[in-house]
Amino acid sequence: MRQVAEQIELAGVLPGVNVLPEEYARLLGYPRGWVFEGRPKELADWARAWYAAHGRPWFYARQAEQFEFAGDAIRVEGVPFSATRLKRTLEQAQAHSVILVAVGAGAEIEEEAQRRWRDEKPDEYFFLEVFGSAVVEQLTAETGARLCDWAEQRGMAVLPHSSPGYPEWDVAEQPRLLELIQQTQRESFPSHVEVFPTGMLRPKKTLLAVFGLTQHTEHLRSLAGLVPCQNCSWGPCQYRRAPYRRAPRTAGEPLPISAAVLDPDAQYSVNQRALARWADERLSISERADGSLDAVFRYDGTTCTNMGRPLAFNYHVRLGSRAEGYPIREQRCVPAAGDAGHTAMCEYQRDPERLMTAIESEKPLQGERLNAVLAWPRLPHAAGCYCETPSRMHKWGLVLETIHYALAQKDLAREKEP
Ligand code: SF4
Repeated sequence: MRQVAEQIELAGVLPGVNVLPEEYARLLGYPRGWVFEGRPKELADWARAWYAAHGRPWFYARQAEQFEFAGDAIRVEGVPFSATRLKRTLEQAQAHSVILVAVGAGAEIEEEAQRRWRDEKPDEYFFLEVFGSAVVEQLTAETGARLCDWAEQRGMAVLPHSSPGYPEWDVAEQPRLLELIQQTQRESFPSHVEVFPTGMLRPKKTLLAVFGLTQHTEHLRSLAGLVPCQNCSWGPCQYRRAPYRRAPRTAGEPLPISAAVLDPDAQYSVNQRALARWADERLSISERADGSLDAVFRYDGTTCTNMGRPLAFNYHVRLGSRAEGYPIREQRCVPAAGDAGHTAMCEYQRDPERLMTAIESEKPLQGERLNAVLAWPRLPHAAGCYCETPSRMHKWGLVLETIHYALAQKDLAREKEP
């Protein structure tokens, strides 16, 4: 059992949050290097201005009084959490303490987004929703940076955070984490947050997290995955140990060869049995003489209205060679030959040209390596149709994950060959 002497507790409601345009663009699903212009710029500027005038971002962090390992779980102040990946990180880094964190974009942005949706303004709804997600990411980075600053001055380092709902941590444990975080000490909890038994938080744009703390800073660089800086966009940091791996690259800059392999421990958003079946039944990959690859994935779905008419789209993805790290060179989504179902989608019936142009022109992650799909946050969206951007991004995520899975399996099989 680890007991701590010194304890940090921070809380505040901020006057504003500086969401980086490149991070906002990434969360909206635009490719790296995207520059806002035209209608997207208008919407992005509007969402930013709305939040600057009405948003109420807040953060809270407190160091737990004690934590311990208990079999496959950890116990924080006596409360058990089956967060196996977090436990591994804490063990590997010989963490002596954990810090409980909550951040939120506030209820106002969610209420306004809902209002826009009810007013049949889906573009405003979507840009505001995603701005809320970008605020939460930025608040997490800023709170992490405050913790890093405090820790580094005391010869300690903060470890990558984990949250219920992340890989290997059941989202159903969210209620007990919220209850624990809300047991504040000197500060009061800055905002009202509720949690449902399913683990869903209200307001939605809220994140609960646990950061580890270690005094063994010298080990971190040699242990892959224990340096949070790779996932931290905090630019002004003076303690950075590793470059931010999502930092925008200038056009034409070559992809780093060191990252030219597929992550063998990939955590996909869907289970691997489904990916294996889709790779088998829906995906075909052919290799060109120069080692580049052509992948075609067939998606079969149904419209959400009009009696659920079947529809089919083909996704074409051109990848660079394995030696280059499978960069995504081209992406295209078009109705499968002979498909008529897509004409029954609501948005098609409203404005066919607008919908089909959106479907064909969206190329999320083009220019990135295939591995980038693993860190690509997408809004959960199960709709079978293509009417809304989140539902189209969701499908692109499934397609790219299936290709990733198929190629990673091939690489594994190759490694096992005598
Ligand atoms: S760059 Fe690294 S040390 Fe700096 S704030 Fe981010 S995680 Fe902490």
